[in-house]
Amino acid sequence: MFSKVLVANRGEIAVRINQTLRVMGIDPVAVYSEPDSGALHVKTAERSVALPGKTAEETYLNIPKIVQAARDCGADAIHPGYGFLSENPEFAQACGEAQIAFIGPTAENMDALGDKVRSKDIALRAGVPVVTSSPVCLPGDREVEEFVERWGFPLLVKAASGGGGRGMRVVNQLHELDTNMKLASREAQAAFGDGRVFLERYITNPRHIEVQVLADGSGHTIHLGERECSIQRRHQKIIEETPSPALVPELRHSMEDAAIAVARGAGYVNAGTVEFLLDPHSGEFYFLEMNARLQVEHGLTEAVLGLDMVEWQVRIASGEPLILQQYDIQPRGHAVECRIYAEDPYRDFTPSTGRLLRWRPPSGPGLRLDSGVVEGEEVSIYYDPMLAKLIVWAPRRDLSLRRMELALSQFPVLGLITNIPLLRAIMGHGQFQRGEYDTSFLEWNPAITVPSGTGESRSIAQALAAWAWHHPASPASSSVAVGDNQPSSNPWLSAGGQRLP
Ligand code: ADP
Ligand code: ADP
Ligand code: MG
Repeated sequence: MFSKVLVANRGEIAVRINQTLRVMGIDPVAVYSEPDSGALHVKTAERSVALPGKTAEETYLNIPKIVQAARDCGADAIHPGYGFLSENPEFAQACGEAQIAFIGPTAENMDALGDKVRSKDIALRAGVPVVTSSPVCLPGDREVEEFVERWGFPLLVKAASGGGGRGMRVVNQLHELDTNMKLASREAQAAFGDGRVFLERYITNPRHIEVQVLADGSGHTIHLGERECSIQRRHQKIIEETPSPALVPELRHSMEDAAIAVARGAGYVNAGTVEFLLDPHSGEFYFLEMNARLQVEHGLTEAVLGLDMVEWQVRIASGEPLILQQYDIQPRGHAVECRIYAEDPYRDFTPSTGRLLRWRPPSGPGLRLDSGVVEGEEVSIYYDPMLAKLIVWAPRRDLSLRRMELALSQFPVLGLITNIPLLRAIMGHGQFQRGEYDTSFLEWNPAITVPSGTGESRSIAQALAAWAWHHPASPASSSVAVGDNQPSSNPWLSAGGQRLP
């Protein structure tokens, strides 16, 4: 087993990985950019190494700097988290060349699955239905004409290397096609350094359902059940749950079998997620892509199975066999996750930056908060606006939705604007509560992104909080605690992370 692991990430996922490493008796080493020098992921690590620079390109995306940091501190493995370099085959390759284990799939796995067009070939060879698409193409190509003639509109232009909902455009009419292909290509080039695009049939009102898989180095592959992630904004997940209210046992088993077939077909090692679109009317499902990494929403699977996915990732990467068998996987109860973003749902989701004047997470039975921030911290413009994930478990779906609603109502955040009011509105929505929703939920319900009040009370609360922050001895500091509960102590703050000089 490893004794020291460098975590090549930041925010809530780095904090969460540090926690598992400590439980396993492994020393976590953090890396950090200039704006992150006081961040929670640094404080919760045993040691840390500064990466000069501010932007992601200069720091968390810089392969030579990160590999050098791992060498300098004597780490025997690197965990990439999600995002950043987690699906970059060159990074996995560079770790291998430096004799540092990569906690994740092989570079070959990432290479084959990182490309949405190539990964469909793997699924097709494994006998799994895929969303019909064209090969990679340019505006005006014969393939474009053939695709449009055969399948018509609406269609989706997609980036071959896409992720996080970027580089994707719906096209409803022929005259919009060329422009959208060019725009998607430009967006993909900027985001992923790869401007290749292709066309895909647009499935109207599908549900996004994915299956978690785990495989060891000798080909033993199991699934860990599904997660439904249909509550999305601009093709990005906001709320996820498991089990999916859309699945009956037979359909669930077919999707699980399909996920295992894709993983085996890819010769996949470690944790991965096979994503499908389900047409709820026909009951047909289609392979969308396979994500060769830990997923943001992995905590749901942990909640219903009572296991630690990062621990299994580390064990597999260190060469241990996967001792879990398929019959060990018996999910219990229901779990739901809300992604808490520093963005204003009532002003077109503009990112919000500044000092987190008040951040008092709720506590109670069945609650887990994976957070990358603490009260008083400055949230910068440099990185992803996701602050934390709130994960709730209960024996039944209706109870877990109620626990989530209550927890969100007891979560005062001041100084920054967050999407918590939107999350609450969705939790309270009849369609969501009945499980009758799909990926266009927010489009059907535009009213949900319109505030019910004037926003005046919010401005007053923010102003009072700012004042209280600068006058800590004043009684005004307690006058802003609307709907507050006792602050839950964060064990990681006293965990005594020591930074390298
Ligand atoms: P999917 O790729 O299916 O949308 P996720 O929602 O888990 O799956 O992640 C979307 C993409 O954006 C992934 O590449 C993920 O690694 C990245 N990502 C999502 N949220 C964050 C975040 N808060 N910080 C960094 N990267 C993120
Ligand atoms: P990413 O790599 O950005 O996660 P995906 O291919 O996984 O991209 O798609 C993300 C989301 O976009 C899906 O969950 C779904 O809501 C929507 N989407 C993708 N492809 C299609 C499609 N062919 N038809 C309808 N919706 C789609
Ligand atoms: Mg996806």
